[in-house]
Amino acid sequence: MQSLWNDQEAASFGTDLLGQRVYTSRLLGRNPALVLHGGGNTSVKVTEKDFFGDSVDLCYVKGSGWDLATIERVGFSPVRMDALIKMSKLATMSDEDMVLQQRAAMTNPNAPAASIEAILHAILPFKFVDHSHANAISALTCNADGAARVKEIYGSRVIIVPYVMPGFILAKTIADLIAGRDLRKEGIKGMVLLKHGLFTFDDDARKSYELHIEMVTLAEDYLAKKGAKPAAAEANTDLMALAKLRQAVSKRRGFPQIARLNSSPEAVGYANLANVATFGTRGPLTPDHSIRTKRAPAFIGEDLDTSVQSYADEYAAYFSRHASGQTMLDPAPRFAIWPGQGIVSFGDTLKDAKIVADIAESTAATVQLGESVGGWEPLPEKDIFEIEYWDLEQAKLRKGPARKVHQGKVALVTGCAAGIGFAIAESLAEQGAQVVGLDIDKEIPEIMKKIGAVGIVVNLTEDQPVQDAIDFAVREYGGIDIVVSNAGIFPKNDPLDTMAQTDWDRTIMINLTSHQKLMNKVIPYVKQGIDASIIFVGSRNFKAPGPGASAYSCSKAALTQLCRVAALELAPHKIRVNIVHPDAVFDTKLWTPEALLKSASRYGMTVEEYKTKNLMKVEIKSKDIGNMVSAMASPLFAKVTGAQIPVDGGNDRVI
Ligand SMILES: [Zn+2]
Repeated sequence: MQSLWNDQEAASFGTDLLGQRVYTSRLLGRNPALVLHGGGNTSVKVTEKDFFGDSVDLCYVKGSGWDLATIERVGFSPVRMDALIKMSKLATMSDEDMVLQQRAAMTNPNAPAASIEAILHAILPFKFVDHSHANAISALTCNADGAARVKEIYGSRVIIVPYVMPGFILAKTIADLIAGRDLRKEGIKGMVLLKHGLFTFDDDARKSYELHIEMVTLAEDYLAKKGAKPAAAEANTDLMALAKLRQAVSKRRGFPQIARLNSSPEAVGYANLANVATFGTRGPLTPDHSIRTKRAPAFIGEDLDTSVQSYADEYAAYFSRHASGQTMLDPAPRFAIWPGQGIVSFGDTLKDAKIVADIAESTAATVQLGESVGGWEPLPEKDIFEIEYWDLEQAKLRKGPARKVHQGKVALVTGCAAGIGFAIAESLAEQGAQVVGLDIDKEIPEIMKKIGAVGIVVNLTEDQPVQDAIDFAVREYGGIDIVVSNAGIFPKNDPLDTMAQTDWDRTIMINLTSHQKLMNKVIPYVKQGIDASIIFVGSRNFKAPGPGASAYSCSKAALTQLCRVAALELAPHKIRVNIVHPDAVFDTKLWTPEALLKSASRYGMTVEEYKTKNLMKVEIKSKDIGNMVSAMASPLFAKVTGAQIPVDGGNDRVI
């Protein structure tokens, strides 16, 4: 492992102690082999003038909710040293009191809550303290003879700390270990917390950071000499099985989950290892991973649903073995080891699933290494339970934003580069759906990016590209729950006796046949969806056709019939199929002021009259349709199928 220190970059963070603290914290955060997603913590001790001009000794500790990789000055909480030292001398202290007193001792009450390790940072007599959950330290110490190995590698340079619960108990344990000692004189440079992580310290930011790199490198070298090479194998990805697994996990979780399959040769190699079902499920690298991943992953055997159910049963048993009055969390796995397929991670959102995937990837590599150098022996489940159900940790998860209507769902929307299609994609994304937008417009990837979605250029009349786009959605997110079949064209108006045959054929192909082709390919996945729903976008023209629009009106009428048949076919699978019939919308690029004026004058109307020519005299906007479709895909329409919903401001030919 290399030091990432760079003089120029360091100077850009400011030469004061806090500036240097921000910089080297980020250096730690930049290396996923050291810390992942909010793990680890750092601090710096400074003397400052307070508001009244008096000198005050402070410990700036990483604030809760901040990630070392991106932390800023305001991410550190300034806590008075005298208060932290006083706390360390108490015989006991409840978690509640600790959190409260840490906040009370902050010179800026608006700063984030200080790390639960603030007291520990304060009692270490060095300006800079760096703490990580380095993978190599886990591989080294999650073992029967971890302490002996640490001694062998680091000699008397580090203090060995047996595992105890983080927070006040850990701070007390270390206070006892260092009481009356002169760590400088002894040449102590850090502490190895068995089955937890590494601390290094120094009065210089760079030295403390580079000590960290040096010690992790020593562990890595030791392991490299003794460890087996990581396994590798090719995946034989089964997307339908992935969609089924996601459905099984979502059911136990109680909410739709995004699933991320890691089918890299390393992930598949790991999943294929003999006995991985045993050693791969013994426990996490470091206790705080269990908040994201639970104690252990699921192991997926021949029958997907049975595998997920036995995980849930085992989780309930684990809970009852250790619970004392807590409420059980959901029993769904957060990641799974899946022979032949790799490692699959789950989350309420894509971001959550990716965080779990990162931890799972690190875990697989480290567990494999640990097992090959003498046996992987993580913390006992009782210790993990204490962390998983520790209120201070649960509080971190509770802080998340409220659940959105479509959170965890995957939506496929066709024809969404502009107009109604775009508005639909946007509404679904706003409500939390992971949207994959298909359009023939070359700009679709850029357009979808604006709403946090993925756009794929597809000609919907071609078979293989459509299949590939559907497969992409399943491969990336684990399945498809919402399909909005919207793509359509409005050909130029021509009466039957003069219209070009090609106009008719093309209209039927795009407005009808491409939808039938899409259904043919997507329904098998939708059957594995969660609260699945299909929505077609029809037209007011179906019930209120106009002269010269035969191809368009007929295609929308046939599409409506397609929707009705699909509703009949899919009802036994609890899949809802509905159609929305919008009136024309004018808030799209197609309708230039000139075009509007021309159309209005054809009816002898002003532009305003033309735009609101319906019973309620309201203009129908793209977003009205977007929001309606989002509602139709939501639980509001849980018991509605085969319905035709007009969004047209009322039309006497439709009513
Ligand atoms: Zn830690």
